[in-house]
Amino acid sequence: MSLTSYIRTIPDYPQKGVQFRDITTLLHHPAGLKSAIDQLVEHYRDKKIDRIAVIESRGFLLGAPLAYLMGTGLVLIRKKGKLPAATIGEDYDMEYGTSTIEVHTDAISPGDQILLIDDLIATGGTAEAAIKLIRKCGGEVVECAFLVDLPELGGNERLQKIGCPAFALCAFE
Ligand code: 5GP
Repeated sequence: MSLTSYIRTIPDYPQKGVQFRDITTLLHHPAGLKSAIDQLVEHYRDKKIDRIAVIESRGFLLGAPLAYLMGTGLVLIRKKGKLPAATIGEDYDMEYGTSTIEVHTDAISPGDQILLIDDLIATGGTAEAAIKLIRKCGGEVVECAFLVDLPELGGNERLQKIGCPAFALCAFE
């Protein structure tokens, strides 16, 4: 069964005209969650990865089991003000206004090979900010992986322009 069939679409959420791809239905389904994690493990099995960086909050859900199965460390990238120790941040533009993501200054060591994980790539703005943040810390982003790609929003091309390959398990065209 294709992973897209586990994902529910909610029209007009969070605002009119948006088709929100709701991955909670995939998470509810044991076969859906298992298939997604197994496919990621298979894809990254032979790559050298020191740590998996996960974007709040749905990226945590995929990255944590993946890090456990791959035997890597986990790095949390969170919204401003959520991490307790010293942080470094990156601002980025959203549809309305700006946002900031942060990571602990001691979470990434220079030269670390990082796999970045989030649930979905749309415009690529969030992932681009996370890549810049990881690079500021001296980490090298091996690849970004997503459960879902929305290709018509151009996120993949945006990441290519900053030299970061992207991989997605499924897409809504
Ligand atoms: P981007 O920055 O690529 O435009 O948006 C991606 C970010 O917004 C991701 O962190 C993702 O969790 C969230 N996002 C945007 N649209 C959707 C959607 O339709 N479904 C889900 N699950 N997340 C979305």
